[in-house]
Amino acid sequence: MEKDILIKDDWQRCVEFHGHICPGLAIGYKAVQIGMGELREWCTQQGVDLGEIVAIVQNDACGVDAVQVLTGCTFGKGNLLFRDHGKQVFTFVRRADGQGVRVALKFGVLENKSHQELRAKVMAGIGSDEEVAAFQAGQRELARRIVEGEAAEFFVWRRVQIALPGGPKLNPTVPCAFCGEGVMEQRAHVREGKIACPECAEKYESRVLVLNK
Ligand SMILES: [Zn+2]
Ligand SMILES: [Zn+2]
Repeated sequence: MEKDILIKDDWQRCVEFHGHICPGLAIGYKAVQIGMGELREWCTQQGVDLGEIVAIVQNDACGVDAVQVLTGCTFGKGNLLFRDHGKQVFTFVRRADGQGVRVALKFGVLENKSHQELRAKVMAGIGSDEEVAAFQAGQRELARRIVEGEAAEFFVWRRVQIALPGGPKLNPTVPCAFCGEGVMEQRAHVREGKIACPECAEKYESRVLVLNK
């Protein structure tokens, strides 16, 4: 089921999956084009197949939807790794040997003061109909610039070698002493000498905080 990431309607598929056109989706789309394009080229040079890809995303914003659609990497398959870094950085890695390409959005390239002022107003729900329309038009225009623009105008990228975490792990499940639900052992906490799931541990901690006030 190898698919060509450069076929024309890939952007359309991203938009359909994501539900709207926005600069964030365009960032993810372009990052995939760059990263996967480079990786394919490297594979061709080496005479190896692309094989299974692992995507490492350093944010959980709109662009990740494009990554999922175009690479097929998802949480469920364990080949989409989320690092909560708040950065527009996407890395595409061969599972087989950790060879990858890291793609980062350049800082400040999407800066547009009037558009950001409009965004603040619209997000706060105080924009007029005209301002909302202008904001949406601006979002589309920005997305179009990214999708159609020169990759190097917006992104920097380089080859990397990544040590990926091992394959599927054995995750024994233990019962939480507080709610009775099962929890992966490695996520379990101990409270008052009993096994607690993270959910119950959080409740316990907030209760202790209240008691100590
Ligand atoms: Zn979006
Ligand atoms: Zn629990």
